[in-house]
Amino acid sequence: MTISFEPTEASKAAREHYRKVAEEQMRPVSRKYDDEEHTLPKEWVDWFWQEGRHGGPRPTDGPGDGFIQVCIQAEELCWGDAGLYLRMPTPALGGSAVSAAGTAEQKKKFLSPFREKGGHPIWGAMAITEPQAGSDSAAIETTAELDGDEWVLNGTKIFCTAGEGASTVEGGFVVVWATVDKSAGRGGIKSFVVPAGTPGMELVGTEHKLGIRASDTATLRLENCRVPQDHLLGSSAVKKKDPSKTGDKGFKGAMATFDASRPIVAAMAVGVGRAALDFLLEELERQGVRVRYDAPPAEVTALERDVMEMEAELQAARLLTWRAAWMMNHGKPNNLEASMCKAKAGLAVTKITQKAVELLGPLGYSKKLMVEKWMRDAKINDIYEGTQQINQLIVARRILDYPSAMLR
Ligand SMILES: Cc1cc2nc3c(=O)[nH]c(=O)nc-3n(C[C@H](O)[C@H](O)[C@H](O)COP(=O)(O)OP(=O)(O)OC[C@H]3O[C@@H](n4cnc5c(N)ncnc54)[C@H](O)[C@@H]3O)c2cc1C
Repeated sequence: MTISFEPTEASKAAREHYRKVAEEQMRPVSRKYDDEEHTLPKEWVDWFWQEGRHGGPRPTDGPGDGFIQVCIQAEELCWGDAGLYLRMPTPALGGSAVSAAGTAEQKKKFLSPFREKGGHPIWGAMAITEPQAGSDSAAIETTAELDGDEWVLNGTKIFCTAGEGASTVEGGFVVVWATVDKSAGRGGIKSFVVPAGTPGMELVGTEHKLGIRASDTATLRLENCRVPQDHLLGSSAVKKKDPSKTGDKGFKGAMATFDASRPIVAAMAVGVGRAALDFLLEELERQGVRVRYDAPPAEVTALERDVMEMEAELQAARLLTWRAAWMMNHGKPNNLEASMCKAKAGLAVTKITQKAVELLGPLGYSKKLMVEKWMRDAKINDIYEGTQQINQLIVARRILDYPSAMLR
């Protein structure tokens, strides 16, 4: 099968559409909601809800040629503002989890408020991280116990992106990872859909952060929080005598979410990196500085070399991202490629935005420009959805064909 990354007409149209959304709806309020952390970006959310209600184009409606378009959308909208992108009322990571691990009925049930009913788009979130469990997600201590026909969840989740909207606004939902059997280690970990407003799920607070400050990052407490039995993703039938026999795809099923979400995070990173690079190139042009791509190696200036390196890093990250997305589209296992693009893009955007701040001199560090913000927004791409180190570890395991016990 030939891989071609030449954008289709539909992809080009989608790119134009999202770019316009980024320019007209996001950039004008970008600084405001960076400064006013924890304030709901009303203009953005209202616009999003209006567009959705009137059946007009929504940022999450691609004209329909697949996962590469989801990446194009993420890149364009994060070029606009990565924090606002994360604040969009969409199922987001919660939706990726349902898509990756849910049954057909669960996909219909939990994703339909957004997809089908034409009502308000809703927030979704995924809650894995706990005070003692981040990279080592097998150390999760939140428990799920079967009681009659319901699962009872207990535990604390931290750093949950979109956790405020997803846990409090009607129609939203949080996908919570919990263990049904601690002694089973990874084998006991399952994911559960907890609808917004479920008694026992409490929003404890939201984080103050370095970057993506328009995004709500929540701490959630689950205390005797009950959900119906069929809210366990991937299964509705449970063997009552042994709750660990849930019939779902288990930890592997839950982990499959990352194969879909890591390319999206990588695309988000590319968007932030491109924002900084585009701005730098415009500024250089304004100053009359032309980057000579055809200059002989001995004559290339330090600045030209820096810019060329930034462009090469960005292109490499984007191509790895599209490859992982293309594989996803074609039903090919992309675990290696998803981690590869995420590791590359997270590091690339960190370097590109720091370099842009550096090359713009003191103004680059000033709040008069947006570049300092993009530098702050960049770093998270190297942390969530598996840190740089964890994604490199996964790449090494896949290439060497080592199980996780042999390379940790
Ligand atoms: C803004 C923000 C939003 C987030 N959103 C979400 C969300 O929506 N849902 C969610 O569940 N979580 C979310 N997270 C949590 C994020 O996924 C974790 O922070 C991340 O997985 C790292 O886990 P940790 O913080 O426990 O760090 P640790 O695992 O303690 O890692 C600390 C450092 O040690 C390194 N390290 C750890 N293990 C190894 C190893 N084996 N080899 C080499 N190095 C290693 C890490 O790479 C890192 O540099 C978010 C975090 C932030 C900051």
